[in-house]
Amino acid sequence: MIYADYNGSAPLCREVIDYLKERLETGPYSNPNAIHQLGQKTLLGMENARALIAKKLGAIPKQITFNSGSTEGISHVFFSLLHHQREKSGRDVLLISGIEHSAVINCARFYEEDQGYEVHIIGTRPNGQCDLESLKELLQKFEGRVRLVGVMAANNETGVVQPYKEIGELTQKSGAYFVCDTTQYIGKTPFSFKDSNIDFAFASGHKVGAMTGAGFVLSKDPTLLKTFVIGGGQEKGLRGGTQNYIGFETIAVAMDVFEKKHEKILKLQEKREEFERKLKEKYPVVIMGDGAPRLGGTTFISYPGIHGQAVQIELESQGIYVTTSSACSDNEPTTSKVLKAMGVSDDVGRGAVRISVGPCSPEDSYDKLFIALEKAYSKLGRLSSY
Ligand code: PLP
Repeated sequence: MIYADYNGSAPLCREVIDYLKERLETGPYSNPNAIHQLGQKTLLGMENARALIAKKLGAIPKQITFNSGSTEGISHVFFSLLHHQREKSGRDVLLISGIEHSAVINCARFYEEDQGYEVHIIGTRPNGQCDLESLKELLQKFEGRVRLVGVMAANNETGVVQPYKEIGELTQKSGAYFVCDTTQYIGKTPFSFKDSNIDFAFASGHKVGAMTGAGFVLSKDPTLLKTFVIGGGQEKGLRGGTQNYIGFETIAVAMDVFEKKHEKILKLQEKREEFERKLKEKYPVVIMGDGAPRLGGTTFISYPGIHGQAVQIELESQGIYVTTSSACSDNEPTTSKVLKAMGVSDDVGRGAVRISVGPCSPEDSYDKLFIALEKAYSKLGRLSSY
């Protein structure tokens, strides 16, 4: 079996499993907000996790607000910057890229409908990167009106890394906030929050080999965050509810593992490049975002004329798990929104299959994936599914 859907959810990494085995045996289990000794011990573990994550990401502990993951974090930031803020801030325009995850797009659309903000979409270059010229034009056109710019750091489908530092610089100069969805970036590639020009960044444990249902928001200025989940004052009053402390501890373990696996990550990138080169030599395949900087373990590939879902099913029959697009739009047999934004034709878009692996994948994953794709393409190429 080869699991190649890391961008959907990465499996728990070995070190996290080992940590959990011991942690679940020994405890402590307690409410980290309780004042008795066990509560204080649990709190200490959680705060150590916060401090370690902050250190690994070039941040300070108070900039981290723990939560259930990126969807919640993004909603929290949009709420903090936008809810009843249109008149107060004098800014009524939101700029988002055309390749954002639904966690961002749907927030922007919600505040457009609910609070009257104007949403404008920044152009996308054919290589999958946000078009800086388009951003500059929009910032100029809506000078003094833009409240936030939402552009992700790395795309979940193509793995294309965005010029986030430049975007942050342009955004901050305009007086707007830069909300950068780093869900696919943090824990996969080195990242320093303090050098990023980002105002708000996000992470989800299940994308980095830690537990699902645990994540955090990184805020350059945490005082900008407003209470989102009302409750008992947890997370400095910003996010009520008893914290998922074991989940947060696993994120700290995964961040530590990531740092130690740097060599393996570089190797993964090399293996991916070789895998793609061999496929391009043999088949008329299109690799989305080819030539652009991309995450080490992501390939979004299409064999025009062969339906992506047919390839997915064929690979699954060989024990290989991939997706045709992002998990939430898996059942859509059409070209994804991300590929449409890149100007990819339907002929190519419908054939796209996302292969995503990580530093904890077996060393020979790409060799096995190549053999399996060869088999799938030669079988389906003869049948031609549409
Ligand atoms: N942003 C990106 C780029 C993602 O890939 C995902 C998950 O697929 C999310 C946000 C949402 O993350 P979660 O489902 O962990 O809340």
